Amino acid sequence: MTLTIIPVGFFDSDWSVLSPDAAPGRRLRIPVYSYLIRTAHSQILFDTGCSHQCRVDPAGLLGDDTIPYLSPELTPDDHISAQLQKLGLVPKDIDLVVNSHCHFDHAGGNEAFISNHIAMQSAEYEAAASDRQAYPDLAYRPADPARLTLLHGDTDLEPKVTLIFTPGHTLGHQSLLLELSDRAVLITSDAVYTRAHFSTDCLGAAQDPDLARKSLKRLLEMVQDGARPFFSHDPDQAVQEGWRLSPYEYV
Ligand SMILES: [Zn+2]
Repeated sequence: MTLTIIPVGFFDSDWSVLSPDAAPGRRLRIPVYSYLIRTAHSQILFDTGCSHQCRVDPAGLLGDDTIPYLSPELTPDDHISAQLQKLGLVPKDIDLVVNSHCHFDHAGGNEAFISNHIAMQSAEYEAAASDRQAYPDLAYRPADPARLTLLHGDTDLEPKVTLIFTPGHTLGHQSLLLELSDRAVLITSDAVYTRAHFSTDCLGAAQDPDLARKSLKRLLEMVQDGARPFFSHDPDQAVQEGWRLSPYEYV
């Protein structure tokens, strides 16, 4: 099995977006990622980044009020389809697309996979369908409902590839645990935005803070047991910890 961490753009963001208890004013350039997992049996994509609309018309998608706090810095090259092309792949090469959750920066790139199988938590799909304000980008919705698999809690996709149900940030959020040959890697997605959020004292934006705290404790325990965490929007982690990005493959 291999893991490739694919950068799919940035946001110019206010820290208060990531930490609702903080005062506005501290600016950060935060990354967005997608993850390619290749096993002996399949090629899986975990999260898909932003849609084309998010780049072309961010205010139209996210609302004028959002842009001063969270402004996309996206080029056409940042779209997941362009990033896959660099790896010699086209969308039909992907056997399964999995979304951590349906927010626009994690499922907007689903638009490139309209013929693919997509999997997400049932609770997330229901939440997204009933809250257009929190889920303004409808790109998460599969064109063909028959190709959508709705999951219920922790799920083994394959041996050593496990989705961990981590609700709180959204009601149906999930993270991904990969048991690579060297060491387990825990892709937290938005259950933990940054290293600073990997503590019960500093909760990120959460639809249900109690659930988010419980999920965070679970992830902390997995890291105590040896998993190496990779956070969804940490501006410094990749450089500070020496993570290598696409096309590098962790094995
Ligand atoms: Zn996010």
